[in-house]
Amino acid sequence: METLALRLPSLTPSGVALLLLALQYAVLAPAWIVAALVLPGERRAAGWWAAHSVGSALALLLIVIGMHAEHAPARALGNILAVAATLALQRGVWSFTGQRSWTLPQCLILAASIVVSVLAALDLTWVPARIALVAGVWAALYFWTATDVWRHVRQVLRLRWGLLFASPMLLAGLMLAARSLRALQSPETVMAEVLQNTVLSLGSSLTGMVSALVIQMMLVALVVSRMVNRLERLSRHDPLTGLLNRRAIDELLQQEAQRARRLPSPGKAATSYSVLMIDIDHFKRLNDNFGHAVGDRALQHLAAVMAAQLRDVDALARWGGEEFLALLPATSGAEAQALAERLCGRVRNLPLASEAGRLTLTASVGVAEWQGQQDSITELLRRADSALYLAKHEGRDRVRRAGGVPLEIVHAGRA
Ligand code: GH3
Ligand code: MG
Ligand code: MG
Repeated sequence: METLALRLPSLTPSGVALLLLALQYAVLAPAWIVAALVLPGERRAAGWWAAHSVGSALALLLIVIGMHAEHAPARALGNILAVAATLALQRGVWSFTGQRSWTLPQCLILAASIVVSVLAALDLTWVPARIALVAGVWAALYFWTATDVWRHVRQVLRLRWGLLFASPMLLAGLMLAARSLRALQSPETVMAEVLQNTVLSLGSSLTGMVSALVIQMMLVALVVSRMVNRLERLSRHDPLTGLLNRRAIDELLQQEAQRARRLPSPGKAATSYSVLMIDIDHFKRLNDNFGHAVGDRALQHLAAVMAAQLRDVDALARWGGEEFLALLPATSGAEAQALAERLCGRVRNLPLASEAGRLTLTASVGVAEWQGQQDSITELLRRADSALYLAKHEGRDRVRRAGGVPLEIVHAGRA
């Protein structure tokens, strides 16, 4: 205790900053362990990030010991651990994004860092080379990982702030690259700084501390964004078929109606949109004959077959048990009818493969087109439903379009 009290005042300000950074990592490590335990989906990534925090804390501790006790092996081990910890950070990001891991390049990076750190521990003249290489690969790892994060945030999480997520690592990478270049360009100066123990200034230690914290915040933000994405997906999609659920398509219908109403002139081609109300024929019979599990598989099969027929701008939802609703923006009733005919044909011609053999399924479709300013979603859906009823009434496996059809008769028949 006495020894510690005597030695502490001899720590340089940058040594104190590095110890605080080590403490920061020591606090983060258990947090990532807890995250790995409570978030099964992120277990591997959080595990790697816990390893990154533990490795970084130990690396910093060893570097500070190496600097102040002039203990070359501690310094070498600290440098190797720092690189290994960054490799763990990178592997965590790869686990998180689900992309391929590059084991060989990582092993080569670690091997090169070990060699140069050991050489520098044995012979001081290798110190600038060690700084250049360790800081260089560190920078490269940050740039590489930042690019992976950027791509994932943009393409998978579909957030526009990909650069914001990647910037902490990019900035840390830039600082490390500058450090590496300086060691390459003026090894004598760096050597002199090492001998005077001033190679790590308070400024660079504090910057390292802040960037480490911001990188950790970025990792937390990544995890949170994915959780929010998952929750949003769960609240908008049907778990069996993966299609939109009724709530989600309701929202889209409202948006489409608003868009159609906002457009000044009811120039039909531009403002009109249509819906298809689709109902599987004799589905109860399928359930009764082959079991509910086959019924479920049929729903998944049909959802996939129908979704494949639609354009990107269209939306398909599971409206109810075995009823589906398709929203077709900028589509006239006649175009929607043609699409529905094609859809029925695909359903009929692509049977479901089951243990009981190939089961041919059919569907009936009611088509309705938005009729302009005076129309409402309730009315539109009512017309599609009536047209569907007509298709069922006339023998199933067919398409009927609302309009031009005496729907009142249909309603009377239904009641
Ligand atoms: P129709 O040709 O007149 O449409 O006859 P249908 O048998 O398809 O119509 P009905 O509405 O009478 O039956 C729908 C059946 O769909 C009843 C229900 O058991 C079944 N169903 C609803 N949701 C599910 C589901 O999630 N899985 C399975 N397997 N069956 C479902
Ligand atoms: Mg049915
Ligand atoms: Mg039904």
